[in-house]
Amino acid sequence: MGLVFFLCLTLAGWVGSVDPLLARLLPENFPVSFSNLVEERSEAVLVNNYDSDADITTSLTRQYRVRSGDTLRQIARNFQVDWRNLAEKNELSNPNLLQAGQIIWIPSGARVPSGSGSGSDYAWPVIGRITSHYGYRGLGFHYGLDIAAPLGTAIRAAASGIVSFAGWKSGYGYLVIIEHDLGSRSLYAHASQVLVHSGERVSTGQVIAEIGSTGRSTGPHLHFELEVRGRRVNPIPYLW
Ligand SMILES: [Zn+2]
Repeated sequence: MGLVFFLCLTLAGWVGSVDPLLARLLPENFPVSFSNLVEERSEAVLVNNYDSDADITTSLTRQYRVRSGDTLRQIARNFQVDWRNLAEKNELSNPNLLQAGQIIWIPSGARVPSGSGSGSDYAWPVIGRITSHYGYRGLGFHYGLDIAAPLGTAIRAAASGIVSFAGWKSGYGYLVIIEHDLGSRSLYAHASQVLVHSGERVSTGQVIAEIGSTGRSTGPHLHFELEVRGRRVNPIPYLW
């Protein structure tokens, strides 16, 4: 499976260099995640220098950060892999003893479940003009939605959850990441000020940061990313 996946990646790279139209389809087919912010190894990296406002180095081996109450079986079910496979890959001597915050590696070949289905689980984090959509941009892929708003405008949590990151991240500038349901997260970049701290529980619509232009950014805006069950998606269909 690993070898097949590697060959697919090689092919993807080759196709990407030959036919941008085909390459455009590829990001949808690969598990992508901003979990590479958890600064650990990544088996393969797609480097993209064309995105002007975000660090979109992509880890192709997905990680899942355990939340309190998670069980290995539940995580395995969500990513559609055998829990024994997960236990083995993660060298878990006792799969019943997961700790909150622990990183679970999800095998590259694992299937990524489709989106939540309801299509409207998240609130708009800020009201403003969309200046760049999710998708192919120049020679790179833009994994977020850019929404321009005046400096200092409130950025609100798209859904309730736990803040897993609040601080500075190269490229993203001042950044907040919120963990929602199993494997789902939202990311808010380029803030001028972060108003929450890691570990804090936030509710939908709560002000978590203020619009800024920090990191790789050319003007005040929010770079918003949504990861649904371990995979970055176009946020728009999920926003209400
Ligand atoms: Zn952006």
